[in-house]
Amino acid sequence: MALRIYETMKREELPVLPMDGETLRFYCCGPTVYGPAHIGNFRTFVVQDTFRRVVEMGGIKTLHVRNLTDVDDKTIRRSIEEGKTLTEVTQFWTAKFHKDCAALNTLPPHIEPSAVAHIPQQIAMTETLIAKGHAYASEGSVYFKISSFPNYGKLSHLDTRELQMGAAVDVDEYEKEGVADFVLWKARKPEDGENFWASPWGEGRPGWHLECSAMTREYLGDTFDLHSGGVDLVFPHHENEIAQSECCTGHQMSRLWFHVNHLLVDSKKMSKSLGNLYTLDDLAEKGHTPARVRYVLLSGHYRSPLNFTLSSLDGAKAALEKISKFEKALAARAEITTVPTYADCTAREQAGPFIMAFDALEADLNTPEALGQLFSALNRIKPAQLTPAEAAAAHTGLHFVLQALGLDLALENIAPSAGEAPEDVRALAQQRWEAKQNKDWAAADALRKQADELGWTIKDTKEGFELVAKC
Ligand code: AMP
Ligand code: ZN
Repeated sequence: MALRIYETMKREELPVLPMDGETLRFYCCGPTVYGPAHIGNFRTFVVQDTFRRVVEMGGIKTLHVRNLTDVDDKTIRRSIEEGKTLTEVTQFWTAKFHKDCAALNTLPPHIEPSAVAHIPQQIAMTETLIAKGHAYASEGSVYFKISSFPNYGKLSHLDTRELQMGAAVDVDEYEKEGVADFVLWKARKPEDGENFWASPWGEGRPGWHLECSAMTREYLGDTFDLHSGGVDLVFPHHENEIAQSECCTGHQMSRLWFHVNHLLVDSKKMSKSLGNLYTLDDLAEKGHTPARVRYVLLSGHYRSPLNFTLSSLDGAKAALEKISKFEKALAARAEITTVPTYADCTAREQAGPFIMAFDALEADLNTPEALGQLFSALNRIKPAQLTPAEAAAAHTGLHFVLQALGLDLALENIAPSAGEAPEDVRALAQQRWEAKQNKDWAAADALRKQADELGWTIKDTKEGFELVAKC
C-alpha cells in the first residue's frame, strides 16, 4: 500500500507515487526568516515531516526541497527597523529555525535553497515571461498578466468563487478575494534600504511568489511530484507559482498539491500579525518539551483546523509517559537494550502488531487515528504474557510507528530546564541519560563527572534529568 493524500487541485484522495518510479521529488514552501517560527508554522512543517517519513518507510526514496524566504517585504522591513543588514537578520532567524526543527525531530530537507541566492534565475524567468507575452514592465516593475493564462485559478477553484479583477499590485500578499496582476520584479523604493539588485528593468528586487518558481525549477525541474504548504498559501501564492512556472516552461508544474490546515488559538489562525502565537521557547518556559508539542500537532488530522490549548500539552505528557512505560516493559521482557533508529525502519512488515497504526498513516496521513490505533494496541498487548521473541517484535513495531510519527521518547525525557545549559553540556547529560537507559552505569558516571568538571550538576528527576549550574 502506498500513502494516499487528499490532493488540493483534484479534490480527491490520490496515491503518492514518484513519476520516475524511484524517488518522490517534492517541494515545501519554507519559513520567512524574520522572527521565530511559531507552533502554527510548525504544524505545517511537522505534518510535512511525517508525510516524508511515511513515504520513505513505505519504501520510496525522496528528494525533499524546502526553501528559506530570506528576501521579501517582511524580512526587509525587519532589517530596516532593527538597523541590521538583511543577511544579519535572516541568518540569525535561520539558525533559530534549524534549532527548533531539530528539537521537534524533523528530518532536515535534502536541499534548502535561499531566495537571495537565486536572483539571476528569477530575473531569467521574468525575461522569458515577458518574451512569451505573459508579463509586462511598468515604471521599473514587472507584472504577471493574469488574463494571459486561462488556467489561472485551477488550484483554488477560482471559477467557483466570486472574484473581482483589481488593479496591478506590488505587495507580496494581497486580498484573498481579489485577483490582480501580481508583481514579479519590484522597482527599488527608498524603504528597501540597501536591498536591491541590478536587472534589465533597473534596480529592484524579486516578488515573493517568483522565488519558489525559480527554486523549484532549479532543483526539481519543470515538472515534479508534489508541492506543499499551509492552506493560506493556496491563494494567491501557489496559484501565482503555477501561473509563472507553467507559462514560463510550458509544462505542468507539480503533479500533486498537499496543504495543511491551520493551527488556531481561540478559533483564530495562529499568526505573527495577530500576535496570538506560541513559540517552542514560550512553551519550554511553561515546562513543556518539544516532543509534547509534536504530539499535540499530530493529534488532529491535517485537513481540519486544530485548536491549540495549553492543557493539550498536559495530555500529551501523560500519553508519552504511558508509551514510555510500555516501551520499557517490552524492552525488559525482550531483554533488549538497543532502540531501532529511523534508518533501521525500512519495511512496513516491521510494524508487526502496530500495523493498523501505520495503515492509518498511509490512509491520508490520519495521525489521530494512528495514535488511537497505537493506544488500542498498547492496551491490548500485555508485555508480561509475551515470549521474549514476541516482545521483541512488538518493541520493533512500536518503534516503527513512533519513528513514522517522529515521536522520540528520549527527547521527551529531556527536562526543559536543561535548555539553559550550553549545548556541549546538554549533549553530555543526554548521553548519560541514554547510558542509564542502557544500564551502562560506568559510562553514566563518567559522563556525569565530565559535566561536573564543566560546572554543571546533572540531577535525576521523575521525568528524566535537569542541569543545575554549580555556584
Ligand atoms: P511563513 O514563515 O509565514 O512563510 O510560513 C511558513 C509555513 O507555515 C507556511 O507553509 C504557512 O502556510 C504555514 N503556516 C502559517 N501559519 C500557520 C498556522 N497557524 N497553522 C498552520 N500552518 C501555518
Ligand atoms: Zn512558495
